[in-house]
Amino acid sequence: MISKIIAEDLITKVKKAIDGVDKIVIVAHVGPDGDAMGSTLALWHYLMTIEKEPVVIVPTAFPTFFNWMPGAEQVLIYEDSKEKADELFGEAELIFTLDFNTPSRMAKMADAVLASPADKILVDHHLHPADFAKVAVSYPQISSTSELIFRLICRMGDFSKINLACAECIYTGMMTDTGGFTYNSNSQEIYIIIAELIKLGVDKDDLYRKVFNTYSADRLRLMGFCLYEKMKIYPEYRAALITVSADELKQFNFVNGDAEGFVNIPLSVHGVDFSVFMREDTDKIKISLRSQGTFPANKVATDLFNGGGHLNAAGGESYLSLAETQQKFEDALPNYRDFLE
Ligand code: 5GP
Ligand code: MN
Repeated sequence: MISKIIAEDLITKVKKAIDGVDKIVIVAHVGPDGDAMGSTLALWHYLMTIEKEPVVIVPTAFPTFFNWMPGAEQVLIYEDSKEKADELFGEAELIFTLDFNTPSRMAKMADAVLASPADKILVDHHLHPADFAKVAVSYPQISSTSELIFRLICRMGDFSKINLACAECIYTGMMTDTGGFTYNSNSQEIYIIIAELIKLGVDKDDLYRKVFNTYSADRLRLMGFCLYEKMKIYPEYRAALITVSADELKQFNFVNGDAEGFVNIPLSVHGVDFSVFMREDTDKIKISLRSQGTFPANKVATDLFNGGGHLNAAGGESYLSLAETQQKFEDALPNYRDFLE
């Protein structure tokens, strides 16, 4: 048995909220990752089995390597289908906000969600949830929102309603938010849950291949370029930085998701415990930060890059040029010396 992490009163509130309505919208953060997709789709499958009318809406497109996920074909992309989405937000009776802690993580979709008359239920594992939901199922000690969805469904007494499609989505979110169970994944109960998902028919090896082994040759060449030409190591700070400009990305026919995971690679260098990846986007620099051990990647994201996240995996953005953003980072590095183990 797994322990009862989610408070009983929250279970009761969520159950009651679902029982009373039909039209339910499920949303996640901008640039949906595996956990955003996994948790929203898992909840969608569950709500379908209990005969609700759920819709998943995400602010921007998700990477194509999640296209195979059961239910992905029905996900509405806000920036492409604004009118339809606004109508659904207007009609919604209940909105689940998954895998983010503050409305700004929904980017241009935030206003529409906040303006909706529907009650909001947050289910998330980021620190410091903002106070915008009627019910907040917030457990930062849990390594993925998808795991929280599993726990929530079970605690509502509906383990038997988790079908294979739902289980595959839960597994995908658990796998991607832990880098294939290589970080943030020491909790024993993760593996008890995985055993249950496998019993339901999940082929975990197949899901790994579907997510991690479907990249283009261009992505691999871009990775090679980033590591060979662009990786900078700061041995005295146990840190690494990779920056990549929009022009460079163009040379490798960059598409969304192609740089996924690059930030983790420098952590495999002996003596590197903090890795940062900066990518020039159309209107900003997108920054990913990763650490191992106790170094607080999220603190650096918050202090320097208007962002946040978890201790070992965080993100943010910058509106300076790429060179200026790099300079800002290098100037600030000495300030974090005390956090090195
Ligand atoms: P990634 O580097 O994969 O984009 O993001 C890693 C984690 O950092 C995400 O799961 C999320 O918790 C956090 N994160 C990424 N970008 C942002 C951002 O712009 N703002 C905040 N607050 N958190 C972010
Ligand atoms: Mn997550």
